[in-house]
Amino acid sequence: MHVNPLTENEIRNSFVNASKREVSQASLPDLESLDWDRLEYLGWRDSKRPLGYAVVVIDDVATGVILRAAPPATALGGRRRSAICAWCEDPIETQDVSLYVAKRGGAAGRKGDTVGTLICTEFICSKNVRRKPTFTELGSDDPTAREQFIARRIEGLRSRSAKFVAAI
Ligand SMILES: [Zn+2]
Repeated sequence: MHVNPLTENEIRNSFVNASKREVSQASLPDLESLDWDRLEYLGWRDSKRPLGYAVVVIDDVATGVILRAAPPATALGGRRRSAICAWCEDPIETQDVSLYVAKRGGAAGRKGDTVGTLICTEFICSKNVRRKPTFTELGSDDPTAREQFIARRIEGLRSRSAKFVAAI
């Protein structure tokens, strides 16, 4: 169990860096279709605006942040550069990683303080950390080593995503 299934209300009440208006305007994902047992955090993009949302559970409390997606590099005329997601650190899924910026919570946020991080654009980190490691990554074909490798990646994702959200 990583994220207990959350209700729409729990999600809307979880945001620590959003105004009432932003919270009420947030689009939510289809909660019924999610595989909660395989999520270290719940992340999704807004269906209409360049916003993303990430909710982690910290000490049994759902804590969410609203993130603004920085414009893709392609908009600046350059080719989209590959980047490593700071949360899942997947070395293979590097083409679809975006800079997301979160307004800090409370007084700092009202003064305009923000924190940015690179995250998989579609918030597929939990899927990435569960992929089968390549032989080069693992250095063997041993199934136990593979399980441990994936468990370490899951734990890393859990702690990095929680650390970012807790710091907002
Ligand atoms: Zn990721």
